[in-house]
Amino acid sequence: EGKSYSFMLRTAIPGGIISSEQLLAEMDLGDEVANSTLRITTRQGLQLHGVLKKNLKQAIRRINDVKLTTIAACGDVKRNVMCSPCPYKGDPVYDQMQDLAERLAIHLTPHTGAYYELWLTDEETGEKHQAGGSNGQVVEPIYGPTYLPRKFKFAIGLPGDNSADVYTNDVGLLAICENWRIVGYNILVGGSFGVTPSAKKTFAAVAQAMCFVTPNQAIDVATAIVKVQRDFGNRADRKVARMKYLIHDWGLDRFKQKVEEYYGANLPDPRPVVVHGFNDGMGWQAQGDGKWFYGLNVENGRIKDEGDFRLKTALREICSTMAPPLRLTPHQSIIFCDLAEKDRPKLFEILRRHGVPLSEDISNARRWSMACPALPTCGLAITESERVLPSIIDQLDVELDKLDLKDEVFTFRMTGCPNGCARPYNSDIGLVGKTAGKYTIFLGGRVCGDRLNFIYKDLVPEEEVIPDLVNVFRYFKEAREQEESFGDFCHRQGVEKLLAACDTVPK
Ligand code: SF4
Repeated sequence: EGKSYSFMLRTAIPGGIISSEQLLAEMDLGDEVANSTLRITTRQGLQLHGVLKKNLKQAIRRINDVKLTTIAACGDVKRNVMCSPCPYKGDPVYDQMQDLAERLAIHLTPHTGAYYELWLTDEETGEKHQAGGSNGQVVEPIYGPTYLPRKFKFAIGLPGDNSADVYTNDVGLLAICENWRIVGYNILVGGSFGVTPSAKKTFAAVAQAMCFVTPNQAIDVATAIVKVQRDFGNRADRKVARMKYLIHDWGLDRFKQKVEEYYGANLPDPRPVVVHGFNDGMGWQAQGDGKWFYGLNVENGRIKDEGDFRLKTALREICSTMAPPLRLTPHQSIIFCDLAEKDRPKLFEILRRHGVPLSEDISNARRWSMACPALPTCGLAITESERVLPSIIDQLDVELDKLDLKDEVFTFRMTGCPNGCARPYNSDIGLVGKTAGKYTIFLGGRVCGDRLNFIYKDLVPEEEVIPDLVNVFRYFKEAREQEESFGDFCHRQGVEKLLAACDTVPK
């Protein structure tokens, strides 16, 4: 027998908006053709791991059967469009943002018919399972004959709710509101976290505010930006092909002028707003229309059954008996929407019966943590991430409890290589795999996500990560200013002071 090739299959879900029926279909595939799990991604999509080549076509077809798609979830095109996920109905702002995410995603999806031909047409009979895209010779209206130099990411958020981490995207749209209505968006450009440590020319970047657009201009300006990157992004060297390098080479002013030229009009300066919040949607919240939503923390986004913890079975029961609309969050968790008062005890009963910890019962450190998949499923992984973060958090919880710091809110993000899929470079604490079993510790980002962190220590063995962090937390407890967050404290201290101070604190 020949080799068996296995694949990761990703579904793009704009804004993470998905139905119970769709999630059930993906969980079925997880059981039937993947590794018995399903993973909520850090970009509000879903991933199936370990799909054998012979099952790919069937799996893609079944995903399309429930009106989801894998098209442009990977590749050098627009990736899944992220959006603050909370289902607030009392004011139109969230609906407007989520509507824009959907329209932007549709507008920037490749028009090619190849996807439908390859995956949704019967090879023998030629029968089309589902028609779509353009037939015949296609010149992509936006991407042209060569698509983009590299992947391209969008996210939409609010100054008071940057849960979509807009600064980490090629284009972030930050909604500007007046009287509970969106009057426009600040367009942020050039965020991206992928770095190649061996290539000094690569770097992580948070996006910079470029201009303000009205809601009606948003899609056309976004398209102009994509086209500028299409025409001027680096196609000779993939390592520096993301749009951040073009902006770095040109400077923001020149980049903006080119976007204006492509768009056909001048664009005003961005509005002076500061991000000040991050709503992860966990726990019970009123939707504003008399109904409730409940955000359930899913550790590292992994939907599975393991021993007494039977999240997958619990979700099956919730989706088949209660069938709530769902949202996947950018922190890899899940929101059950449109619940009536009477549904609330039922939801908790199902979760408890299956040994699923409620969001209220988990520590802050766990709630605000996330890890990329890394080993064994990611081919680029250098070391562990998802499989070890839960035990690292266990250890940290014990220490934070001793220090009386367990109520602190800080983001803790871990990846198995410097590509940064779990967005470790703007978090309060970032742990990035450098070689087998060793990590770079980053400190000084913050929950709001608008600032890069810095390298605190490099090549730290896994077993030393917690002792090192505990020293910094001790110093934080002793020297913080009132209400100062852990990330703000580390940022204010800077690496040298932090190292000097923490070396003097006994372990
Ligand atoms: Fe793989 Fe690296 Fe991305 Fe983790 S950060 S999923 S190891 S590429």
